[in-house]
Amino acid sequence: MKFKILVMEEIGQLALREAEIPKPGKGQVLVKIENCNICTTDWQNWNGMRGKSNKSFPYAPGHEAAGTIEEIGEGVYGFNVGDHIAVGYTGCGYCEECRVGNTKACKTPKEKTTIDGVSGGFGMSQYMLINKNQVFEMNPDLPFEEAGYLEPVSTAVHGIRKLDPKPGDYLLVIGAGNMGLVNAQVAKAFGCNVFVSEVDEKRIALSKSMGFSVMNPATDNIVDFAKEFTKGHGVDHVVVAVGNTKATDQAFEVVRKGGKVLLFAAGYPSPELNLDVNKIHYGNWHIIGTGGANVGDYQLASQYLSDGTVVTKNLISYKIPLEDYNKAFELAATPGNYRVSLVMWNKAKDN
Ligand SMILES: [Zn+2]
Ligand SMILES: [Zn+2]
Repeated sequence: MKFKILVMEEIGQLALREAEIPKPGKGQVLVKIENCNICTTDWQNWNGMRGKSNKSFPYAPGHEAAGTIEEIGEGVYGFNVGDHIAVGYTGCGYCEECRVGNTKACKTPKEKTTIDGVSGGFGMSQYMLINKNQVFEMNPDLPFEEAGYLEPVSTAVHGIRKLDPKPGDYLLVIGAGNMGLVNAQVAKAFGCNVFVSEVDEKRIALSKSMGFSVMNPATDNIVDFAKEFTKGHGVDHVVVAVGNTKATDQAFEVVRKGGKVLLFAAGYPSPELNLDVNKIHYGNWHIIGTGGANVGDYQLASQYLSDGTVVTKNLISYKIPLEDYNKAFELAATPGNYRVSLVMWNKAKDN
C-alpha cells in the first residue's frame, strides 16, 4: 500500500509524492500520522525568508506531528499498537552529551530517513518511521493537532528551565504569538506571575481570554505598567518571544536589576542588541539564549499537554487537509494567524 508524503521540491514549491509503507526495523515504530502543524521554520523555508538555510532540496518537512502507533518493531517495549503519541527529537541516548541529558547536543550524526532520495522529518506524511526514544505518549483524549504541540512546548520548557524562576517571580513575555502564549503558560506552571506585552488587538484579546494581564506598548507606558503589575518589585524575567529589535529593546527597559532576559525568538533579518556593556554591568543582568529542547523537556511537555497545564486549543487557527498544502502554507505565512494544522487523512476518501 502506498502513502502520501509532502515534499518541498524547492523554495516555494511543494508537491505530494507517494511511497510504499515501510516496515519498522529493530527499535523502530511505524506511526500513522493524523496531524502535523506547520512550524514558523517550515513556512519561512517555504517562502524563502530563511534563504536556503542549510536545506538541500528536495526534502520532506514536518516535525510537529502526532498520530497513533501502527506497528512495532523488534526490541520496542512499553508501547502498544493504537497508542496516541507525538514525535520528539531526543538524540542517540548513549553519547557523552546524551548521557548527561543534553540530548539536543547529541554527537552522533542523526540517522537520516531517506525515501526515494528524499530526506527530512517526514512529519507531513501519512506514515513515518521513528526510533522508539523519539515517541512520547499523549493523552488519547487530546486532539491530534494539540498533541502536535509537543515540540514547541518542549522548547518553552527548555527556556523557562534556563531562567530557573522561583515561585512568585514576575515574568513578562514580549509578543503574544504562538510561542509567546506557550511560554506564558509554561512560566505560569513554574509558579511565575506572568504578564504579556502585545500590540495586536486580536492577540491582546486572546491573551486576556487565557487569563493574562496585557500591556500594550503602543498605548501604555511600559515602565509604569510593569511597576504596577509587580507592585514595585520589578520584572525578574523577560522572555522575548518575537524576533525584532524593538521587542529586544523593550526587555531591557523593564527588567529589574539582577534580572534575566531570555532571547527565545529568531528573526529574519536578525534583531540587534542595542546595549552598552556598562548597562549590563551595572544592571547585573543575565542575558540568555535558548533554542531546542532536551529529552526531559519533551517528557514534561507531554505531561503538560496531556494534563491540560498547557492548553493550545485556541492557538490553532486552521485545520487544512493535506491535499490543500499550498493553501495551508499560505495561511501559515499570513501575519496574525497562529498555527495551521495539516490533516493527513481525508476520512471520506482514504478509507
Ligand atoms: Zn517547530
Ligand atoms: Zn547522543
